[in-house]
Amino acid sequence: MPREISKFLAAALLVLLLASACRRSEPGTGSNTGQSNPVQEAHNPSPAPVQSPKAALPAAPGEKSAAGKTLYLTFDADMTPGMLEREKQHRVDKWYSPGLIDYLVENKIPATIFSTGMFAEDYPELITQLAASGQFSIQNHTYDHAAFSTPCYGLPTVSSDDAKNQEMSRASAVIVRLTGQEPVYLRHPGLCHKLHDDQLAEQMGLKLSDTGTVSGDAFARDPKLVAQSILSGAPHNPVIILHLGGPNARATEEAIKLVVPKLLAQGYTFAKLQ
Ligand SMILES: [Zn+2]
Repeated sequence: MPREISKFLAAALLVLLLASACRRSEPGTGSNTGQSNPVQEAHNPSPAPVQSPKAALPAAPGEKSAAGKTLYLTFDADMTPGMLEREKQHRVDKWYSPGLIDYLVENKIPATIFSTGMFAEDYPELITQLAASGQFSIQNHTYDHAAFSTPCYGLPTVSSDDAKNQEMSRASAVIVRLTGQEPVYLRHPGLCHKLHDDQLAEQMGLKLSDTGTVSGDAFARDPKLVAQSILSGAPHNPVIILHLGGPNARATEEAIKLVVPKLLAQGYTFAKLQ
């Protein structure tokens, strides 16, 4: 009997040992040390999914496809009767930033100026020189910056077809007189217009340039914010909408000096609308 008991005990012990060994090597509990398991489970999922899409998405294609991609820096040269009056009263020095133009000239960056007729009349030598350089194209931004639809940032509005045609034709006439070149693009003041206004422009032989990357430079004080808008919009909308500086767009000059070197380094080139 005692022998049988000891045999039975030995067999039972063997079964217990085998069961314990199997449990340790079951899949799911891991073949490494028991401690590393929960740590791995907690950390493994995050690096993989977070890193790979981030590295594969916007930055890489944007930078790679920029090679040979063309951007169009466009600067609106606004002028209203009120602005002209402030200048005459010496409350404003200039309604543009000479430093901005100098920077573009020195770095040979082609650009497009959407000039109001009144701005061109106020700065005729500037407009003539910029056009004559061949680096700049001068396009139509209406005669006195009246809005073609309302509301439009508090601008006075023209509503009849006749008045709108006058706005466009008077601006073109001033630009032709100063540059010898007929504008082929129109940008509506404040980008405000109705569908019917597209037809009026077309009848006048003008193509619209109202869409693009809105830099927000007419409202921003911080050049870095303007720069950010340009850099994030450029890969999608190559026409960059800006202003020619002055008191109404104080951040523009600095923003341009921030973004142009970066965009060139990314492989972009610049051209004028013509
Ligand atoms: Zn404007």
